[in-house]
Amino acid sequence: MLYADIILPIARDGFTFEVGEALHADITEGRGVSVQLGAEKRYMGIVWRLHNERPPYKKIKTIDEYVANAPALTAEQRRFWEWCAAYYMCTLGEVMRAALPEAMKPEGFSREEFLRDVYKPRTATYATLQSYDETTLNGWFDGLERRAKKQYEALAEIVAAGGDVPAVALKASPTVLKELSKKKMIALSKRESTADEPPPLPATLPALTQAQQAALAAIVSAPQQVVLLHGVTGSGKTEVYINLIAEQLQKGKNVLYLLPEIAMTTQLVDRIRHWFGERVITYHSRFSTRHRAEAYRRVNRSTGGEVILGTRSSLFLPVSNLGLVIVDEEHDASYKQVDPAPRYHARDAAVMLARLAGAKTVLGSATPSVESWANAAEGKYGLATLAERYGGVPMPEIIVSDTLRAVKRGERTVHFNKDLLDRLAAVLARGRQAMLFQNRRGFAPYVECTTCGAAAMCPHCNVTLVLHKADARLRCHYCGHSAPVVHVCKGCGAESMEARGFGTEKVEEELARLFPEAHLARLDRDTATSEARYRAIISAFERGETDVLIGTQMISKGFDFKGVALVGMLNADNLLSYPDFRASERAFQTITQMAGRAGRRGERGEVVIQTAQPQLPIIREAAAGDYAAMAVTQLAERAEFFYPPYCRLIEITLRHRNSELLWEAANRFAAAARTTFGRSLLGPQPPLVDRIKNVCILSFLLKVERTQSFSRAKDALSAAVATLRSEQRFRYVDFIFNVDPQ
Ligand code: ADP
Ligand code: ZN
Repeated sequence: MLYADIILPIARDGFTFEVGEALHADITEGRGVSVQLGAEKRYMGIVWRLHNERPPYKKIKTIDEYVANAPALTAEQRRFWEWCAAYYMCTLGEVMRAALPEAMKPEGFSREEFLRDVYKPRTATYATLQSYDETTLNGWFDGLERRAKKQYEALAEIVAAGGDVPAVALKASPTVLKELSKKKMIALSKRESTADEPPPLPATLPALTQAQQAALAAIVSAPQQVVLLHGVTGSGKTEVYINLIAEQLQKGKNVLYLLPEIAMTTQLVDRIRHWFGERVITYHSRFSTRHRAEAYRRVNRSTGGEVILGTRSSLFLPVSNLGLVIVDEEHDASYKQVDPAPRYHARDAAVMLARLAGAKTVLGSATPSVESWANAAEGKYGLATLAERYGGVPMPEIIVSDTLRAVKRGERTVHFNKDLLDRLAAVLARGRQAMLFQNRRGFAPYVECTTCGAAAMCPHCNVTLVLHKADARLRCHYCGHSAPVVHVCKGCGAESMEARGFGTEKVEEELARLFPEAHLARLDRDTATSEARYRAIISAFERGETDVLIGTQMISKGFDFKGVALVGMLNADNLLSYPDFRASERAFQTITQMAGRAGRRGERGEVVIQTAQPQLPIIREAAAGDYAAMAVTQLAERAEFFYPPYCRLIEITLRHRNSELLWEAANRFAAAARTTFGRSLLGPQPPLVDRIKNVCILSFLLKVERTQSFSRAKDALSAAVATLRSEQRFRYVDFIFNVDPQ
């Protein structure tokens, strides 16, 4: 008899089925099969292990069908899933949920749904000339020659190539081609690739500067498997990636290119597409199920020569023949999945995946995480550096503007210091653009009673409600609860509720009053309600239709706008107010990334940082653009207070509706776990927001020394939790492990 251990997309592991006769011949480990659990419905499972050991239960179900186009995980992929489950303390089923979201329909699938073959063949975009008539053509050329040089050149290129060419083979950018097609001079159409032959590689690559060539050589020749590319903003890290990618594609290898959620902008995707066209497969957890499924199948079928460009979950795509993994903006916190399990860090997991595949990993950033920097300093990672911006563009001038001093001198108008206002006025007068950053959305982060001091709180969460003026509501940013604006205090009855602090909405309102002529736009979760809205805001700014773009973190990353001469940070102190050992590092990163949007072409950009704490080392280091100084300071602090990279962390979160029971469970758990961990277990402690959706929260932090076995520590933790939960009373207390919390 042949048996198969099957992984299902649920939290529990350990299902064994008998393998039906029909499948004996070609069943393999890693293959997707259809498993019947209920009467009618089927679920997708993955064959994890084939063996001949009969499981101890009486009735054993049989599997007898594959899922059409189901994944076939390679041995590497399976080792990777196993590593994820063990390292991040979750089940393989939970890894499968992250890896194959479409396998997860809770109500299951019908047999028909599983057998349907929905593979879509690869297509390529062709540009086709709409007229070969000489007079018409001459007319077009005359029309374009003066007003649209790029379009003129593109049209000439298409004519020279015979009038019907794959768009990737052209030097012209997709935008230019679109313009020509709007003018009906060419038509753009998608055609199925006839053979399995991959589309052509670009004829030329971006010519690298000397500094870029040196960085490329350092990456290629580094003996280490992981190389950190530390390049200042605007230094052309992307151009280096493009060259690295081309080299792998030439060799017939696949490349995985990871981007943080927020940087997965059309701008970057277009730039990569420009060079590699239909060889680019994009993947994002926000894409529709259909798009994701299609991307999955394309990757599944690919034997090499493609670039997979995606967010963290693309790590789980079944990429074979992997030659290189790029983790762009490697410091970005959104690489860490917080909820649900697996709570993986995509950068660290990428390093593991590449190692399993024998591929190189390139971690790139202008502001690397100090962990990666320390690894490079120790020689564990190779290091390549780009110290200057492309084209000799100077780094922006950074002005630290003391908010308290401005107030004292009467140089503050609403939330703007004179330093910022004057420069903003000058930039607008010159017809250039500005970006303003404030990491709070809404109008005001809280409303407070000026009589008794009570703030309006969410009834379900222990957090203040945020005022949104556009629709006159108070909103909870944790649970979504919303209520009409109140003027009367619930506590003392006085009619003295006032808005406090300021968010992006207020910045926009104040600015509209100060600069009535300027065109303003705001980019945050309230305005970017859909992919289309998001794109519209970005491209209006790109085209120069908007003068000032106000936004949250959303505007800080990855953008390459040429018109931006000024960047303003309205309140850098916000960035430092978190009780987190990484707060300073993150503040440095945000300031540097935001500053990096200024003056990327031609004239030198300006950055104004408004802060009440100009004397803080982190502000000085950021203003000086001195990454190394920041890293040295931070590492010294981490060493002193024993934080990563000098130890490893596991955060343990307990949740229950009943606060008393929760504390009791926490104390019992602490007592049990301390027999093993002693004082390296910190807590229990209520987190910043200790009640969300009426569920109370407590947390612990475990510090594990580098010399200790991490896996043994995890086993001891799991054992302590299992013992506690075996008691009926504590059965429904949620325990969440977060390994390497960010
Ligand atoms: P980074 O990602 O390091 O911030 P980018 O790759 O976005 O920098 O490069 C900044 C700008 O300089 C981009 O507009 C890019 O097209 C341009 N650039 C950089 N290197 C080159 C090069 N070798 N040839 C042409 N343009 C370049
Ligand atoms: Zn709430």
